[in-house]
Amino acid sequence: MATPPSEGFQARKARLREAFRAQLPARLAEARARLAAIQPGPAGRDDLARLELVLHTLKGSSGSFGLLGISEGAREADELVKAALATQEPVTPDLLATLSDLLERLAQADLEPAGAGPGERLGFEPMAAPSPEPGIPAALVTGDPAANPRGERPILLCDDDGDLAEQLCAQLACFGYQVRAIKSLADLPAAVAGDPPATVIMDVMFPEGENAGPETLAALVTATGRRIPSIFISSRDDFQARLQAVKAGGSAYCTKPVKTTEIVEFLDALTNRESPLPFHVLVVDDDPELAALHALILEEAGMITVVATNPAQVPSLLKGFNADLVLMDLYMPECSGPELAQVLRQMPGHVSLPIIYVSSETDRERQIKALEVGADGFLIKPVDPRRLISEVTLRAERMRTLHALMVRDGLTGLFNHNAIMQFLELKAANGRRDQGAFCYAMIDVDRFKRVNDTYGHPAGDQVLMALSRGLRLRLRECDVVGRYGGEEFAVILTGVGEAQAKVILDQLRRSFAEVIFYAGDATFTCTFSAGVAGFPRFSTSEAMLEAADLALYRAKGGGRDRVEIAASPSIYPRSSPDPAAVATPRADEVAYGH
Ligand code: GH3
Ligand code: MG
Ligand code: MG
Repeated sequence: MATPPSEGFQARKARLREAFRAQLPARLAEARARLAAIQPGPAGRDDLARLELVLHTLKGSSGSFGLLGISEGAREADELVKAALATQEPVTPDLLATLSDLLERLAQADLEPAGAGPGERLGFEPMAAPSPEPGIPAALVTGDPAANPRGERPILLCDDDGDLAEQLCAQLACFGYQVRAIKSLADLPAAVAGDPPATVIMDVMFPEGENAGPETLAALVTATGRRIPSIFISSRDDFQARLQAVKAGGSAYCTKPVKTTEIVEFLDALTNRESPLPFHVLVVDDDPELAALHALILEEAGMITVVATNPAQVPSLLKGFNADLVLMDLYMPECSGPELAQVLRQMPGHVSLPIIYVSSETDRERQIKALEVGADGFLIKPVDPRRLISEVTLRAERMRTLHALMVRDGLTGLFNHNAIMQFLELKAANGRRDQGAFCYAMIDVDRFKRVNDTYGHPAGDQVLMALSRGLRLRLRECDVVGRYGGEEFAVILTGVGEAQAKVILDQLRRSFAEVIFYAGDATFTCTFSAGVAGFPRFSTSEAMLEAADLALYRAKGGGRDRVEIAASPSIYPRSSPDPAAVATPRADEVAYGH
């Protein structure tokens, strides 16, 4: 059942349409004034080009607001002008007379939206929530966290390899997931029917014969009459096996050896633990109502938008708005869409920012030309809202995935060394401009080598993943968490001074020390030490790095399991760190797994 669009959306939609209709007479008057200014002969061509821009915009906007009479008339006039401009011929009095008639007709045209009574049509169907497939709990489709609260139902693991199952259960428990294990697919229907799990993780082999066929698996999982999200684990990485998994209704696919973080990420997504940040879209259109309409459609789909009606605002708007995508009008006065795209492409940081043009340009050649400047898509006005949402979502998602691969660490999913250094430099530069306080902290797991030596590297990895997750979940969204390298983590705490940063890190330190890790029959705990340096006491990224590093070594020297605030720069001059404070020689550090 499609849900009706929210009241807020309808009201805003109506307001936008009213605003558009209210200024239509002024727009038509502008078109007539431009027409009146055109002189017949070769000199009139520039003015004709200016009129074309007005007609083109009018065509796109009125179509988007459902005023089809206006849109059709504007299109007719626009095509006449385009054809005349294409010939290089002087402007003829005949053309001007025909255009004048057309514009006169437009001024008399019906300003009611087509096909319905006042207030009903906006040129698109009412937005409907995606209708859930029969049998799928609504929560999985709409992503409503309330319908699937954190940790409410356990995870069911089906694996005939007892060791692997035990290890996976223990590791997932470190991430707060309660896991029930069964050994055989034969036990699955009963296990699922009794107490339906939030997700099923299944070790499978495809195709049929080797193990259960995809239909059997799908049937097993739907034993309760509801489809339960499933993660398939397989030793095969070929296309056929993956395809079978998809056909069996699998929500995710992991290859062996299984990485706990990978599974945790899927589990988080499937159980809505960490809902992804909404997409941020910058909408650029010189027509304010149309820009607002497109922004409204995207916001209704859960995105965050900022509108620019003047291309010159775009670079500065992008600075304060972490855009996933720019939706851009093709024709704007002073600066066209492709020109704006080029300006952005020439700025570091926006080289790969996805751009989608929206235009009433129907000429294929011109569309292709516009796309050649490095844009990613083209939507024709009036844009079908579902198409707009799906195109934007698709491209923004792909960009986020690519970006994540570039800046994230493989084991922990945190920002990698490069990314965190870039953040720190940016923060320091911004801090010098706006004097905003922030702290940089280095965190290092204590005696980690001993953990590896005693319990093995997989146990060590478990510790790193648990710490990274703790940092990610406990710090705020405005904080930045990265893996500096090995068992060292770096954190940028925004808007706090050193003392407050120490309080936050001490809390983290205490809770991390309580996490119990499992390695075979043994259990153990771990601690970390940290060094904090605050801005503006240390005013460059280099100074902060060095100071935090020295503070960390002081924490190690002082007995570990503590947080130290950086001493004043003069105490440890760059060339001669206090040898007594450095407990562990840096040269000892062994790179692992890189
Ligand atoms: P300290 O308390 O002085 O920091 O001692 P430590 O043993 O933690 O420090 P040290 O630098 O001597 O050892 C760090 C160890 O971390 C050595 C290296 O094998 C291990 N390590 C680095 N990266 C990884 C990783 O990704 N996984 C695992 N399991 N171990 C890692
Ligand atoms: Mg260490
Ligand atoms: Mg270290």
